[in-house]
Amino acid sequence: MPDALHTLTIAELRTLLQKREISPADIIHDLEASITARDPEIGAYLHRDTAAALAAAEKADLSAPLGGIPVAIKDVLNVQGQPATAGSKMLRGYISPYDATCIAKLKSAGAIPFGKLNMDEFAMGSSNENSAWQLTRNPWDTTRVPGGSSGASAAAVAARTAIASLGSDTGGSIRQPAAFCGITGLKPTYGRVSRYGLIAYASSLDQVGPMTRTVEDAALVLQAIAGHDPQDSTSLNAPVPDYSAALRRGVSGMKIGLPREYFIDGIDPAVRAAVEAGVKELERQGATVREISLPHTRFAIAAYYIIATAEASANLARFDGVRYGHRCDTPADLRDMYDRSRAEGFGPEVKRRIILGTYVLSSGYYDAYYRKAQKVRTLIARDFAEAFKEVDLIASPVTPTAAFKIGKNAGDPLQMYLADIFTIANNLSGVCGISVPCGYSAEGLPIGLQLTGRPLGEEDLLRGAFAYEQATDWHRRLPQKS
Ligand code: GLN
Repeated sequence: MPDALHTLTIAELRTLLQKREISPADIIHDLEASITARDPEIGAYLHRDTAAALAAAEKADLSAPLGGIPVAIKDVLNVQGQPATAGSKMLRGYISPYDATCIAKLKSAGAIPFGKLNMDEFAMGSSNENSAWQLTRNPWDTTRVPGGSSGASAAAVAARTAIASLGSDTGGSIRQPAAFCGITGLKPTYGRVSRYGLIAYASSLDQVGPMTRTVEDAALVLQAIAGHDPQDSTSLNAPVPDYSAALRRGVSGMKIGLPREYFIDGIDPAVRAAVEAGVKELERQGATVREISLPHTRFAIAAYYIIATAEASANLARFDGVRYGHRCDTPADLRDMYDRSRAEGFGPEVKRRIILGTYVLSSGYYDAYYRKAQKVRTLIARDFAEAFKEVDLIASPVTPTAAFKIGKNAGDPLQMYLADIFTIANNLSGVCGISVPCGYSAEGLPIGLQLTGRPLGEEDLLRGAFAYEQATDWHRRLPQKS
């Protein structure tokens, strides 16, 4: 049997499984050993049901597209019979009574959900420091954050303690941690993947997507989870193309735009150089590159933190101590129970956002903040629509810097919010985006190249990202000791 199965990609494991050289249980055992060795230092896993995974491995249909492949899951998604805390004390002890649609789809593609991964509480954050449970560390430098909110989904894939994972992205939470940890992360078009069974943060922005070691693996996982779902009224009823077939089409003839507003002062020069070199590589392969403008970019963070917090304040109203999750001890009356259950259950960042979101929706301020932010959102979406009349893909950095030190931004929410400056506009406009590794900072930390595609343009993303990846070896480099 080939050793170190935990270092292989989905595509490589599928070949070995189909040749019957390994069994799905071998992969689980190998991963389990890798997690035992490495996760105490990384802190990615909140929960694992190894017995259930092994039982699923016994029955795995190896002819299915992801037959026998374990996929680790961000703790914001419901996996039947397993805890789902969304990184919050509010949901301590909650066991999912059902599978999210993307989990059901993974299972019917033959995959085995294995392990729940840490995250910022209710997906609010860019560093995993907002988890109620534990710190997750960046495998490339354990004094640094893995990014967030799907930080552990990225860290586990990078540390080779997960083959692939699912994350969710509301303002960058798949792409930013993928960039910080040197893996591939794809945020699909809004509505491409069902949100049914995803614990909601900001429903008009949230989207589930794959986090993998290669672009090919991202295509395989996206294929499994994409598609219409009558249980989610915002799910798009559009055919799902053959994503793997898109990979090898090459970029010759593709038009790539560089938004002038994304190459600003304040970007780490190493990030700028790596991204520019990445674009040059695509040009060398036959893409044409031109400068474009997304003029309303500078309003994106402000609009996002009004819209996302407004939606969060409504979504999180359901956590009242009545039906599930945390309830305070010995409440004096109903009001006291609501107050104390919420005060005890939510962490400081979640409280900050509920307060902000309630404020921007309040009757005296609705027009000044919420309505205005919605108008800005429309302008941002129009910027993208205009740009995509001229280009097929937009290339940019994912983040202004590589992974920052644990604690660096923890006391400064505005500084933390700036980590998402290049990712948020995609969510506001609903378009898709991918982060692929494109180099290293002076400190040896991974840097990501972001490609943004038009609505339902995932094939273009995969085509561009795969062409780039094939010409480089960033994705093969390992953090120490993995
Ligand atoms: N970091 C952003 C936030 O804190 C985005 C989070 C996300 O995409 N879930 O809201």
